[in-house]
Amino acid sequence: MRKLLLIITLLLTACAPIVTQPVLPTPTRPPVTPTVPTAAWADLSPYYAAMKPDFVHDVDQFTQATRYQIDLTIAPSLTNYTATQQVHYFNTATAPLDAVYFRLFPNTPSYGGQMTITSLKVNGAEVKPSMELGDSAMRIKMDPPLPVDGEVDFDLAYVTSVPTVSIPGGYEQFGYFRGVLAIPNFFPMIPTYDDEGWNVELAPGWGDSTYSDSALFQVNLTAPSDQVIATSGTCGPAKISQGSQTLHCASGPMRDFMIGLSADYQVASDTIDGIKVNSYYLKKDQEAGRRGLEISVKAVKSYEKRIGPYPFNELDVLETPTSAGGIEYPGLVVIAAEDYQHNPTFQEDATAHEVAHQWWYSLVGDDQLDDPWLDEAFTQFTTALYYLDVYGSPGFQADISLDLQARYQRALSDNEDMRADLPVAAYSDRQYGEIVYGKAPLFFYALYQKMGDEKYNAFMQTYFEANRYRNAHVPDLLKAIATQLDQATIDQLMKQWITTPN
Ligand SMILES: [Zn+2]
Repeated sequence: MRKLLLIITLLLTACAPIVTQPVLPTPTRPPVTPTVPTAAWADLSPYYAAMKPDFVHDVDQFTQATRYQIDLTIAPSLTNYTATQQVHYFNTATAPLDAVYFRLFPNTPSYGGQMTITSLKVNGAEVKPSMELGDSAMRIKMDPPLPVDGEVDFDLAYVTSVPTVSIPGGYEQFGYFRGVLAIPNFFPMIPTYDDEGWNVELAPGWGDSTYSDSALFQVNLTAPSDQVIATSGTCGPAKISQGSQTLHCASGPMRDFMIGLSADYQVASDTIDGIKVNSYYLKKDQEAGRRGLEISVKAVKSYEKRIGPYPFNELDVLETPTSAGGIEYPGLVVIAAEDYQHNPTFQEDATAHEVAHQWWYSLVGDDQLDDPWLDEAFTQFTTALYYLDVYGSPGFQADISLDLQARYQRALSDNEDMRADLPVAAYSDRQYGEIVYGKAPLFFYALYQKMGDEKYNAFMQTYFEANRYRNAHVPDLLKAIATQLDQATIDQLMKQWITTPN
């Protein structure tokens, strides 16, 4: 997510040529001939469609990833949807599981939706789940426990209504507002099970909500035919019938699947390094929509060169009514319409930030609730490197001083310095913005100053390669840093920027 805004005056560079395209669904890549499947779930070829050609076989390592097959119908009113969902889940933990959880994010207070499970079967038999956390977590007992490497099938059906007015404590990330329907985390989602057990908790409203593993999605999406639709992954051509359209979409290894749509969307697209970048903007904001495309393309260029390749063949950037500056999802980011219309400086900052999350969050995952600095602080400093690449040293220094240092200075002025490696819930909304988005990125800045540009990139590449598609933790980050910097310096910088004051 991108929070708060600061005025950074930077010179915009000349525009790259942009092609404004008619509103058509994205054509799918021709299917790769499948290998002989042993079971429907074992066939990984449907997911190849979302990958760049050189990365198609990344999918093959995901034999035990959770498969989601979702048939989703969005009502003509755009205020509710129904779905059936088949999930094939593998117990990849080191112990048997006596329960499996699904998170129902629409039911969390800051989302303000209402999801009702109308049918649930486990391996074909109807079961009754226990609902927890205000119906936002569903516990399904495994009887007998699901053994290590065991597999289980879930069949679900659900109906969901979405909010149409602002929810207290939310940021209009989920719902139908001002002609745009945005439905992040719209489906029952299995959270990460790790050494702490099931990661099931209500996220504070000012942080990100999800912590999940890379999974594989196929989504059949039916919606009114006048809607222009953007999703995570890649969709085939729409089939139109009696006022509605149906798209078949597939993802590569992604930890979530996001959908946004509007009858008002126009699309501008460009292709960089085999990635089709699509900017979805409201008709009246054409100039900002084109600017969003340019920024995104420059950001992808910067991060691919410094960190490593984006393996998917599509990246979508959407203008939505959210009151957060921007929010990241796999293969799709949303940026506030407010900034498209009134604040091009922050549009650039938020877009560069959310696109950086494709590397830190989407590809290299992390526990967004417990280790937000791995997620947000690393992304904040990576955004500063975008400014370095696009505007040179003055842009870089402006971002460091007017965003990162200014945020931390506010904490110091208020005598509220805190350590930077705490869970989101340990901070107030304001402290979170100052410490995790301000102080902790200065740790990465200090690393950059000690290492220099080349070694800093080498550290990021090492971390990226070792943790791509996985969830990384603090020791993984420190291990990658140690390939480029001596331990005494790392310890000193960690103490200076991250682990003090206690
Ligand atoms: Zn963020």
